[in-house]
Amino acid sequence: MREELAAAIREALEDGAAAAVFLTGEDGTAEPRVARDPSDAAIEKVATGDERYPMAGFVMMLSPLLEGGIAVAGRECDRRMFVELAKHGQVDPDRIRFIGIPCSQELADACGCDHPCPPDSIVACAAGPAQARLVEEATSEDAAERFAFWMDSFSRCIKCMGCRNVCPMCYCKECALDNLELVGPESAPPDIPIFHLIRAVDMADHCVDCGMCEAICPAEIPLRSLYRQAREVVKEAFGYEPGVNPDEKSPIEKLGEVSDLAGMEEGFRTT
Ligand code: SF4
Ligand code: SF4
Repeated sequence: MREELAAAIREALEDGAAAAVFLTGEDGTAEPRVARDPSDAAIEKVATGDERYPMAGFVMMLSPLLEGGIAVAGRECDRRMFVELAKHGQVDPDRIRFIGIPCSQELADACGCDHPCPPDSIVACAAGPAQARLVEEATSEDAAERFAFWMDSFSRCIKCMGCRNVCPMCYCKECALDNLELVGPESAPPDIPIFHLIRAVDMADHCVDCGMCEAICPAEIPLRSLYRQAREVVKEAFGYEPGVNPDEKSPIEKLGEVSDLAGMEEGFRTT
């Protein structure tokens, strides 16, 4: 796949893109690179393994420094981030030329990912969707058990902010997590559960289920299960799934309009 990917990056630059953004590296290590010239030797070292990186966050940082189009080599979760970020006015979709990298079956299985194939993949995608998993305790029918599980998980948090900082969907310049009236200055753990609830509520209509927050969490808190459940509430209530349809806006953006909640069977479980 390296040859095809390198060729697609060179083609985008020859075709007028001002820059190309991709990962280089081998064996699980990866670093983001920017090339502006199709003859840049780094293009030949483009990573094609299971390395992951928040490409959309990198592009958001770079784009004000560049003029013109940006070619981005990324996975389906990266593509979904661009779709969602464009709706929130954080990237200009007309500047992004996406080069889709298919995930391997091993990565999809390890990730519990049901969307391993970008629609515009540079080579045929052989991976099938994996079952999106939740940790068992998070789905317990017993509300007290669920609450105890999450409070115990949150109590391990060291407030390193890795989950927020790695997440391209967490783009606000002023973040509620930094507001001392909402979240006190304590760090081990931070005020719980409010610290984690702020992020979960914010992610309910933003999260594209890339899993990078959970992968980076040093306390091994099952954040993806938390955000998957928050996403599910929005999906059940409004049929909305972040990152999927570029023409459909978040239901939160429609505040003030009458919403049809008929599709919501249970909402938040209270028992
Ligand atoms: S990455 Fe984990 S430990 Fe760090 S702030 Fe987030 S939940 Fe807490
Ligand atoms: S899975 Fe985590 S890092 Fe990825 S979009 Fe959702 S909240 Fe952000």
